[in-house]
Amino acid sequence: LQKKVTDTDIPSAQYGGRHGVTMLPGGGIGPELMGYVREIFRYCGAPIDFEVIDIDPSTEGNDDLDYAITSIKRNGVALKGNIETKSQSLSEVSRNVAIRNELDLYVNVVHCKSYPGIPARHKDVDVVLIRQNTDGEYAMLEHESVRGVVESMKVVTVDNAERVARYAFEYARQNNRKRVTTIHKANIMKLSDGLFLEVANRVHKDYPELEHNNMIIDNTCMQAVSNPHQFDVMNMTNLYGTIVSNVICGLIGGAGLISGRNYGDHYAVFEPGTRNTGTAIAGKNIANPVAMINASIDMLNHLGHKEHAQVIYDATYQTIVNDAIRTPDLGGTHSSTDVVENILKILSAKRVNW
Ligand code: ATP
Repeated sequence: LQKKVTDTDIPSAQYGGRHGVTMLPGGGIGPELMGYVREIFRYCGAPIDFEVIDIDPSTEGNDDLDYAITSIKRNGVALKGNIETKSQSLSEVSRNVAIRNELDLYVNVVHCKSYPGIPARHKDVDVVLIRQNTDGEYAMLEHESVRGVVESMKVVTVDNAERVARYAFEYARQNNRKRVTTIHKANIMKLSDGLFLEVANRVHKDYPELEHNNMIIDNTCMQAVSNPHQFDVMNMTNLYGTIVSNVICGLIGGAGLISGRNYGDHYAVFEPGTRNTGTAIAGKNIANPVAMINASIDMLNHLGHKEHAQVIYDATYQTIVNDAIRTPDLGGTHSSTDVVENILKILSAKRVNW
């Protein structure tokens, strides 16, 4: 299914059915979360060999970044934490954005589905957020034209608007969804958002069985907070996409639960949906490991390791839903390692059936 939707190349397995995957722990809570994923994978024998690349945000130059990009190009797939951008210098680009642009990861998919029993503002939310991942306000083209006047380019291209719209409609068709909502501010940004909307309307003509409506970003935020159930699949530009993802993830339990997938035609990168660094909670054994575990499950599914993906998913679900082993962000009193140990305990009980 994934192949049909995105046409992302899926690397063939190496000797013994194993896959090499680039691991970019990033900063903040990234390294500890990656440690949990490795422990779980080791425990259930997931056939993945990680190539770990640490990118130090305080180093000058882009050697680490180049090495990371080369590694992802070689492996085809990466699991990623958020990489900090320390400097405010214009010459220092965000490494996260650079990776997405260099690998042409043009679409980001965040499936925001509520977990039963988890304390949240809204229950039974099930929205798929599809975001253009390389254009828009993230072009990183800013300059001071004259002293005291700063200009920032927002770039919308027909090709990228079409690729993301087609992804959204195709996803809706293949997953029996009913409606795609395109998010924009075309009343003010008539050319840029106007083009994004126009392309979505055109692509919709190829999907007559699906409903397509559009909504202005400010109203979308209000509607998302008051009645998120009205949304099914959302098609968004880059900046609106990150805002709406954070709003909806916040509504259903926060940054620690939901994963996000980035696809291009050749590469796929998996990470927590809201891409937080979590600097303030790093090293305290309180970060919720579930978003990164879910990202690793997405990665296993992408590579065709469905059985491993399923057992890890079931054990994680049982831990937070049935056993209520939850970190403080979900209203619990458990530590990150309590959650992981419970997952390992469930995996161990199932082991006899493998
Ligand atoms: P910074 O780079 O300064 O860390 P940020 O924009 O990446 O900032 P964060 O502050 O890291 O955002 O994250 C936003 C909020 O989400 C914070 O309150 C953080 O504690 C929380 N958060 C992020 N990830 C997790 C997690 N895995 N478990 C629990 N809370 C989390």
